[in-house]
Amino acid sequence: MLPRVMMNYRRHSPAAQRFAERRRREDEAPRLCDQVPELVSLRLEIEERSGHTTGAGPKHIRRVVVDRAPALFLMPCGDPRCADGEHDVTTTVMRALRAHETQFQGSDECMGSVGLSACPRVLHFDATAEYRA
Ligand SMILES: [Zn+2]
Repeated sequence: MLPRVMMNYRRHSPAAQRFAERRRREDEAPRLCDQVPELVSLRLEIEERSGHTTGAGPKHIRRVVVDRAPALFLMPCGDPRCADGEHDVTTTVMRALRAHETQFQGSDECMGSVGLSACPRVLHFDATAEYRA
């Protein structure tokens, strides 16, 4: 009996629901290759910083699979204590891709909360894109 209880708990946890919600929005979004047909490759270098600390945080690279990716750029907040934290940089990224920019960057403040206070995390990204001539 215990494994089934655990599975139900996991499926209905807030994190699992947020993940499912994100998946649904990604599935419903238009495809990147339909929105920007000239796009060949897109690489995002993502760094998350906390307002309380100075200096660079850990970076991670996200290579977007252009043929299949949705035209939606959502990233969960990196703070595991953060409730409802999510970074949505779709508007910034899509505007730059439509303008065929090859190097661009942006940032997004987390709108989630940690305990009773606002989440201090800020996401920065550097993007590199290639287009067909
Ligand atoms: Zn957050």
